[in-house]
Amino acid sequence: MSVSENIQKIKKELPIEVELVAVSKTQTHLKIKEAYDSGHRIFGENKVQEIVEKYEILPKDIKWHMIGHLQSNKVKYIAPFIDLIHAVDSEKLLKEIDKRAQQNNRIIDCLLQIHISTENTKFGMSENESNQILLRKEQFKNVNIKGLMGMASFTNNINQIKEEFDFLYNIFSKHCFLNTLSMGMSGDYKIAIDCGSNMIRIGSTIFGARNY
Ligand SMILES: *Cc1c(COP(=O)(O)O)cnc(C)c1O
Repeated sequence: MSVSENIQKIKKELPIEVELVAVSKTQTHLKIKEAYDSGHRIFGENKVQEIVEKYEILPKDIKWHMIGHLQSNKVKYIAPFIDLIHAVDSEKLLKEIDKRAQQNNRIIDCLLQIHISTENTKFGMSENESNQILLRKEQFKNVNIKGLMGMASFTNNINQIKEEFDFLYNIFSKHCFLNTLSMGMSGDYKIAIDCGSNMIRIGSTIFGARNY
């Protein structure tokens, strides 16, 4: 099936409140353009250099989401155009986003990444750290923390994935001002939606397997 057919197929099954981020990391401009021409506008990338290059070349009404780990010293490159930063995992990073957003006269939407998996390689903060930041969110005038993001463990154990997503949903639901819960990828997005996700990040199911 083509990229546009894959997107249509996923969208047809999604509850109305669930937003689809097409994860286009490593994909060519041509493939992204194909998705764009079928009407899709939200794309996710995980490398600063790649997202900047694609932003410059592809249509300007694309909403670019930074979904990967972001280093503070690279925020300045994406601050002028980024639509949503999913993986804010420290206060230091949040401060830098706030500073660069202000320099660009923007308010940048962000999600706090919570560590929910058993793998210690995956980035993210604890519930306690996120609570501390959310208590002081007014301090960051040019940042809008609109939700949370998390990645479940890479496992076939559906119950474990469910538990991890339930854990994240539970934190999310304690903060009534948050409205975006980014959880679910190609392998686990149906479980994520059952657990309350309203933003899924799908790469390989749309574009095919990545070769790395
Ligand atoms: C690559 C990536 C995805 C998409 O993964 P697929 O399994 O290809 O759908 C989602 N979220 C993040 C943070 C990623 O890095």
